[in-house]
Amino acid sequence: MPINNVNTLDKLQLDGKRVIMRVDFNVPLQNGKITDDTRIKAALPTIEYILARARQLVLASHLGRPDGVVSDLSLEPVAAHLSELLQQNVSLLNDYHHNSVFKLATQMPEEKLIVLENLRFYKEEKSNDRDFAGNLANGFDIYVGEAFGTLHRAHASVVGAPQFFSPSQRGVGFLVAGELLALEKITAAAKPPFLLIIGGAKVRDKITVILNLLKHCHQVLVGGSMAYAFLQHAGYEVSKSRVDVQSEHVEAIIRTAAERKVEIILPSDHVAAQQLAADATPIHVDSPSLPVDSIGLDIGSKTSAQYSRIIAKARTIFWNAPLGKFEWDSYAQGTRVVATAIAANRDAYRVVGGGDSLAALKKFNIDGFDHISTGGGAALQYLAGEPMAGLKALKG
Ligand code: AMP
Repeated sequence: MPINNVNTLDKLQLDGKRVIMRVDFNVPLQNGKITDDTRIKAALPTIEYILARARQLVLASHLGRPDGVVSDLSLEPVAAHLSELLQQNVSLLNDYHHNSVFKLATQMPEEKLIVLENLRFYKEEKSNDRDFAGNLANGFDIYVGEAFGTLHRAHASVVGAPQFFSPSQRGVGFLVAGELLALEKITAAAKPPFLLIIGGAKVRDKITVILNLLKHCHQVLVGGSMAYAFLQHAGYEVSKSRVDVQSEHVEAIIRTAAERKVEIILPSDHVAAQQLAADATPIHVDSPSLPVDSIGLDIGSKTSAQYSRIIAKARTIFWNAPLGKFEWDSYAQGTRVVATAIAANRDAYRVVGGGDSLAALKKFNIDGFDHISTGGGAALQYLAGEPMAGLKALKG
């Protein structure tokens, strides 16, 4: 079934074809070594699916933010690692800037899998230069978009290149399809009751997302430093807790929630500290207000028990960002209890998004979510209801 009117792999005629695929191999490197290969491994099912059918597959990705050619940001270690994972030869293609990528690839007929050197070595990638995009596309039979994290960026490999293909010649890989399906299931197709759980520290980035999700959800559980903005607005004392959002934004959320009859639930107790330090003595505060000179760092046990009861009744759950400073053990219980409760509710469709929530799941060794969104800013843009340029370019 096409998702968002975009072709999935099964809709593309791949047999014997030459395929160019935009992937996200933006992996962390230290002294030329890949320190986390999650993104490479995540793309393997799509790569293997295409390799089993196509004649040749060329992978294109960016890595870091180079200004011109920076040898430390070469995709060479990625190509070598991919070769190890797949147990097959993988070639790195350099200097494709002024040469036809297709011609260079066809001059390597023995090479079934080729990785293009870092797209962002060339400024034309970010400026969505038409010639640069055409050079990535011309000659190839099929374009596959498999870099969800860049789908909101109007770059040549994301937006320009797919437009050189007819709608039947372009589509998305398993990763992007999975991400789109999950995001659709928590927006347009959410089963009620839909519960939004929101925490974290960077509140400002999430205002438009919350406002848009209020169109779809029925209840919101608030934790993290986000909670202190709402508590302060409600007239409670938040003392030295982090509040990183203007009250007009909080007001807009409260107003929209009221209009849509969405209930916003705030913590009724906290774990606080006198200093912002991992070894600060945790103070259990049994009220929504915080004592003088304290910093709220986690939801309290009463709140996490209440949140767990609400979670058990939901049928769709989207959780973004930790409910406390979970990296410090004394302030981790809220995030752990809530994540455990979400994992335990097998009747709900459960999606978690945001890098820090994923780190929390890893730390507490919790799995059982239906989808773990790795889309970052792109997923947030989708959830904010803003069109994604790369998705538009891919539509069939
Ligand atoms: P975000 O980047 O917005 O997803 O926020 C994630 C970060 O928020 C994590 O590193 C948490 O430790 C942090 N965080 C959660 N709750 C609090 C809090 N009450 N005060 C300060 N930081 C928090």
